[in-house]
Amino acid sequence: MKKSNKLFEMEKKYGANNYHPLDVCLAKGKGIWVWDTEGKKYLDFLSSYSAVNQGHCNPKIAQAAIKQMKKLTLTSRAFHNDQLPLFYEKLCKLAKMDKMLPMNSGAEAVETALKAIRKWGYTVKGVEKDKAEIIVSKNNFHGRTITIISFSSEFQYKDGFGPLTQGFVEIPFGDTDALEKAITPNTVAFLTEPIQGEGGIIIPPDGFLKRAQEICRKNNILFVLDEIQTGLCRTGKLFAHLWEEGVKPDGLILGKALSGGYYPVSAFLAKKEVMDVFKPGDHGSTFGGNPLASAIAVASLDVLIKEKLDKNSLKMGNYFMKLLKSIKSDYIKEVRGRGLLIGVELNENAGGARRFCEALMKEGLLCKETHENIIRFAPPLVITKKDIDWAFKRIEKVFKTI
Ligand SMILES: *Cc1c(COP(=O)(O)O)cnc(C)c1O
Repeated sequence: MKKSNKLFEMEKKYGANNYHPLDVCLAKGKGIWVWDTEGKKYLDFLSSYSAVNQGHCNPKIAQAAIKQMKKLTLTSRAFHNDQLPLFYEKLCKLAKMDKMLPMNSGAEAVETALKAIRKWGYTVKGVEKDKAEIIVSKNNFHGRTITIISFSSEFQYKDGFGPLTQGFVEIPFGDTDALEKAITPNTVAFLTEPIQGEGGIIIPPDGFLKRAQEICRKNNILFVLDEIQTGLCRTGKLFAHLWEEGVKPDGLILGKALSGGYYPVSAFLAKKEVMDVFKPGDHGSTFGGNPLASAIAVASLDVLIKEKLDKNSLKMGNYFMKLLKSIKSDYIKEVRGRGLLIGVELNENAGGARRFCEALMKEGLLCKETHENIIRFAPPLVITKKDIDWAFKRIEKVFKTI
């Protein structure tokens, strides 16, 4: 029996059934490549949902991680540690935000943002106790905690998990007229992704962020962006909101590539007035901001900056998107994206994106469908033109022969 089949059986027997992975069992990774237990090599077009923007097992991050692992890993926040201040300074300066609060998973950083937003609403804006409303975008993805799924538009994400958390209002993504109409005296914030990643690589109308920011400022509500997937060079700029001039959110949520794929690291960044609502005891996490996470995050950011992965993402993204748009196939409805966050939406007649992902896998490309009919292409940002050419030949073949 193949080694992977034995592992699949173990997984089926002991593991919760909350995922539906492709039938490939990975054992090794380097840069844009991963290898399965049988030694077959694949180009990773998912990058762990953009957590490994720096490439698998990036040696510079590994070095920083190993060095810190041998020195000090966890102190809890009951004491100071000598790595966290370096992480604070590095990320706040890069993001041009006053302050930050480190957490572990993306969902925890979103929860942190929601707590900060609400408390700002009560203590600074003066909203009546327990009446705060947060406006969010339809078709959003912000994580999987009970409060976060409470404002998801996906039926399955919430079905069976009630009672849900109150206090959220949905507007169509990208619709600033709807934003304006949804505001009440109790509104404390507008929370959105700049481009919807899990939602299907949905790009809003030009000027959406700038206009939303203006509406927020005019109405004294916080403008908060979840850049967990779009941030850290994925879309061809350090943050997706930098695609629009003059956009400066009041709160910014990061995760995924902040870890380079080594260790969960996330953060909520905000202007001082917002972050200062937290007092000792209001919020915390045993692992958040530990020295190992901090050292890894600093190294992960250094790689993005020193290797100019924003520039490579933009250049390779434009090149790849042009190639994808040149495919002549009745199955393709639209190719869209920014930088190396690219979605290929299929027509109804295509029979779903899953079978394309399975065919691509046979050709040595790992992709994952998002929703029923969208294939996401989001390789590590260290990809080269030669690798894209290699991959494109195979993608073209799959569309011709499927
Ligand atoms: C992945 C993601 C999250 C959740 O992050 P986890 O680390 O899985 O909790 C939140 N927001 C966005 C936009 C994401 O893409």
